[in-house]
Amino acid sequence: YIVLGIETSCDDTSVCLYDRHSRSEPARLISSLTASLDNREFKGIVPTLALNHHQVHLAPLVSKLLCPVNGPRIRPDLICVTRGPGMRGSLSVGVEFAKGLSLAWGVPMIGVHHMLAHLLTPRLLTNGSAPRFPFLSLLVSGGHTMLVLSSSLLDHQILADTIDIAMGDAIDKSARELGLNGNMNGPELEKLVRQYESSVVAGVNKALTKDELVGEFGIQVKLPMRPKPGRKQEAVFSFSSFVSMVTRGVGKKGGLDALSETEVQIIAKQIQDAIFDHVIDRITYTLSTLPKDVVARIQDFVCSGGVGSNLVLRQKLRDMFANSAMNLHFPPPELCTDNARMIAWTGIELWETEGLHSSYDIMPTAKWRIDNILGDVDGWLR
Ligand code: ATP
Ligand code: FE
Repeated sequence: YIVLGIETSCDDTSVCLYDRHSRSEPARLISSLTASLDNREFKGIVPTLALNHHQVHLAPLVSKLLCPVNGPRIRPDLICVTRGPGMRGSLSVGVEFAKGLSLAWGVPMIGVHHMLAHLLTPRLLTNGSAPRFPFLSLLVSGGHTMLVLSSSLLDHQILADTIDIAMGDAIDKSARELGLNGNMNGPELEKLVRQYESSVVAGVNKALTKDELVGEFGIQVKLPMRPKPGRKQEAVFSFSSFVSMVTRGVGKKGGLDALSETEVQIIAKQIQDAIFDHVIDRITYTLSTLPKDVVARIQDFVCSGGVGSNLVLRQKLRDMFANSAMNLHFPPPELCTDNARMIAWTGIELWETEGLHSSYDIMPTAKWRIDNILGDVDGWLR
């Protein structure tokens, strides 16, 4: 059967078509299209502009998918659309469009949980064979930072969550303090760090000691929530302090204009390392609190969501699990950030293993907990 995937939870309009020709082989991608919104002049996402963007682009993109230039018109058999969490206006464009198509074609539609889709992404490429339940996921995106233990398709436990902003948000804001103003600052910050590291390897810049870093060249950085006498350890993440460290550090050095290109690169490296070290530190602690028999059953670890495409983070995770038998799964970067393909795959899993689909009265759901996917919202049909 043919599956149409629609993702409009944030500011990218993304659609795709899959051919689920056999249940024993990975679904075959027919085509996928994305229209990205350029946010650069607004320093972030403006909800009404994102809404307009989806209204302008969704129908033309789907029309292009369904009417290939040299082929017959395609009519999907299943529609998978992001229902939440995300921006309500943006979500409603996709959800209402899916309802219309489902009604007109007489085919089922499924309102998909966006974070479940990020989490299941590596299974899309393996036809659900890896990772196998139970597995752990680090979901790191613009809006979420969670360590999740998934026991089955619908049973997820949040082991650690952020108490303030998400990791991607902290990266984007820190990068902005360093003068980056891209649509997505994470990859740009990663590039700055790589430039510095290459310059050290090439001998253009010398490697700095810790003291030189905080003193002459870099800024003062401190990991939050480190163990301290009298402080209770907590299984949570916290990222807001990193942004203030950059603001304060750059201010102390006389502002951004007073910094050389190399100094900016050094600070970029300091802050990126610190953010990732904090995540590793808190994952290590959180896992140490789990019962031994639970840990023994977990063989797979997924790192997904936009920040999950960062190569430094991936290496730190590999190092963390170096002495264990854990299989690590890193989806390709184009599947880490928001995309319709993960939505289509998640709909396929929900449909095939649970027989689930959605009623026509479902609402876009801005807040929807991953540890209560069925109970948190209504409108499920079997
Ligand atoms: P959510 O999924 O929580 O609703 P979102 O959909 O906005 O949030 P994603 O598209 O999954 O988030 O990820 C976007 C985030 O990932 C941005 O903050 C971006 O800067 C970050 N990001 C993307 N690539 C990289 C990278 N290579 N290094 C670090 N961060 C990155
Ligand atoms: Fe996302």
